[in-house]
Amino acid sequence: MRICIRCNTKMVENCGIKVKGARYGVVLTDDEDKWFGGRLGEPKVAICPSCGEVSIYLEDVNKLKNQER
Ligand SMILES: [Zn+2]
Repeated sequence: MRICIRCNTKMVENCGIKVKGARYGVVLTDDEDKWFGGRLGEPKVAICPSCGEVSIYLEDVNKLKNQER
């Protein structure tokens, strides 16, 4: 569960994000040389129904913790 950092309301999770006008999604990486495969996966979005705060987050942070470099 995510709580809004601004107003402490429970946020609506698992929302999506998309670049308007394109069918591209957003992909995050921890290494700008390795975009292919989207090393960190696609971000999820949580939106606060009270104040509209939008929070972009990664569901699987283990990929950040267990990096093999
Ligand atoms: Zn809020």
